Amino acid sequence: MSSDANPALTAAQAAYEELRALGLQLNMQRGQPSDADFDLSSELVTAIGPDDLVLDGVDLRNYTPALKGGLPSARAMFGAYLGLAPEQTVVWNNSSLELQGMVLGFALLHGVRGSERPWVHQSPKMIVTVPGYDRHFLLLRTLGFELVPVGMEPDGPDVVAIERIAAADPAVKGVLFVPTFANPGGETISVEKAQRLAALEAAAEDFTLLADDAYRVHHLGHPPKTVDLVGMSAAAGRPDRAFVFGSTSKVTFAGAGLGFVGSSVDNVGWLTRLLSAQSIGPNKIEQARHVRFLEAYPGGLEGLMRDHAAIIAPKFAAVDDVLSAELGTDGAFATWTRPEGGYFSSLFTTAPVAERVVELADGVGVSITPAGATYPDGLDPHHRNIRIAPTRPPLEDVRTSMRALAACIRLATEEWRAAQG
Ligand code: PLP
Repeated sequence: MSSDANPALTAAQAAYEELRALGLQLNMQRGQPSDADFDLSSELVTAIGPDDLVLDGVDLRNYTPALKGGLPSARAMFGAYLGLAPEQTVVWNNSSLELQGMVLGFALLHGVRGSERPWVHQSPKMIVTVPGYDRHFLLLRTLGFELVPVGMEPDGPDVVAIERIAAADPAVKGVLFVPTFANPGGETISVEKAQRLAALEAAAEDFTLLADDAYRVHHLGHPPKTVDLVGMSAAAGRPDRAFVFGSTSKVTFAGAGLGFVGSSVDNVGWLTRLLSAQSIGPNKIEQARHVRFLEAYPGGLEGLMRDHAAIIAPKFAAVDDVLSAELGTDGAFATWTRPEGGYFSSLFTTAPVAERVVELADGVGVSITPAGATYPDGLDPHHRNIRIAPTRPPLEDVRTSMRALAACIRLATEEWRAAQG
């Protein structure tokens, strides 16, 4: 069919050419805080001074081999963040992803508590949720895990599939997922699903829940109903089943914050024994700065997260408003999630055109997360998912990018429909 005989395609092409003429240069793929978010934490840098180098009776400058798991007041603060006691918490350096890698690496080399053998000799597999976080996939692949994808649903991972897969295969060692405001769809696990994960009967005696709670406190106005996977696992008679990770990367500074992990007291003993073989301890100056800064912030951590929400919520609203206005809400071109927190929204094109949309967006100067990035090995079997990351650009750029994205979705869809004849 020539485009003359296809007014919808002709109109979509014309709209696209108009966009190209604007010479945009916008980046919508970075799941990072904006400078305005970072500015909220500027005083972190000076939260301790040269005369303030002792906290909890500890000289922050020296090695402290006896102080396993971090500075006591940091363990108390970030334990509370995870809903756990200080002795259930390890506060380490600036990346929760690194801590996930260390727990997984130690499990490969030694097994976790309750393992009969190190995981590495068992061709280990890990369940992941899709669409999901590309760095989880990369980390697991880099460590040699086979990935077993299950779907993400509005109330959390597809637990029925997880139960079936875990029961059938002792090489399936656990599930790595985001319990609160997941990347990319913003879903939060229900209490019922969390309890089923804590209690599930797995073929592997050392089946482990690795919960990356990166967005536990990152609401857009209303604090979420979070789950306590460590407590639920203990109540289900599996006290060592869950590790829950978090960080201040989207609270204070993405590149200079604190990562932490919570679990059973016994697991904390297991982890700190292994960590202390490779480091005499984490950076206590950074831990003390965070404690002092967050204690002094008006309203504490909650006050800071409310201030972030005031910056970020309008950007999420802009995504939904512009896409709804440009594409309608009947799903003719796309559907998308409307998260109440976190850093991303997940869009599904109705036609299998995600790669073409990203390519077209690139052609008008709008950089979108590569299509497929939300699936293991970058391969979306349905060619439909696109991750939207609205936090980093200024609000007006978010609006412009979403108008451009909508035009690209229209054009890619009309091209696809025309090709179907
Ligand atoms: N986990 C999830 C789900 C994320 O989305 C991100 C960053 O985008 C991270 C972890 C990175 O965390 P960190 O900076 O603590 O390593």
